[in-house]
Amino acid sequence: MLNLVLFGAPGSGKGTQSAKLIDEYGLYHISTGELLRDHIKRGTELGKIADSYISKGNLIPDDLMISILDDFLEKNAADVEGVVFDGFPRTIPQAEALEKLLNKRGTNLHAVVGLEVPEEELVERMLERGRQTGRADDTLETIKNRLDVYHNQTMPLRDYYTGNGKYLKINGHGSIDDIFEEIAANLEKHTGAKRKSKK
Ligand code: AMP
Repeated sequence: MLNLVLFGAPGSGKGTQSAKLIDEYGLYHISTGELLRDHIKRGTELGKIADSYISKGNLIPDDLMISILDDFLEKNAADVEGVVFDGFPRTIPQAEALEKLLNKRGTNLHAVVGLEVPEEELVERMLERGRQTGRADDTLETIKNRLDVYHNQTMPLRDYYTGNGKYLKINGHGSIDDIFEEIAANLEKHTGAKRKSKK
């Protein structure tokens, strides 16, 4: 098993790098943001609750988010070779819960890939994504709140995972391929994981 967290501010490239990681390492991708957006699109009860937080750029409450993830893992990730968690955890209680969720399935978290990108670039990237995809929370006002939420609630995880030796600092500014090469090199050094195709 290889279980990874892809960590970084909104707009740091987590989704893009996740897609490359699942290809190269044969992992299962779980994006909590995509999972919630899918509920909103389908108009489920959960989607209605999620929308009231997402549209303002706030986090879904921990208890709810953790139980959604537990449920999703149970239904979708029983026989996988490993998981890339994209957008989870976003708070310390979520990080603690993730360890428990993995431990009860007989595994654990191997590394946290931290994409570090200058703030001005984050805003530009999200505005561009908003223009291209119409994503509802990629508007200037919501982006500002999402960045505040990131600094206040999510950033402490960087110290948390640095403290337990799992944080891999990656320069997230540059070309998609160069960033991925840095991730792959760090993962190999830290976990011994080998990618399927060596460039
Ligand atoms: P993302 O696609 O990861 O940028 O997430 C979009 C939005 O979904 C966030 O701004 C939150 O409102 C919500 N969300 C996604 N993941 C989480 C999480 N782990 N905890 C709480 N809210 C989340």
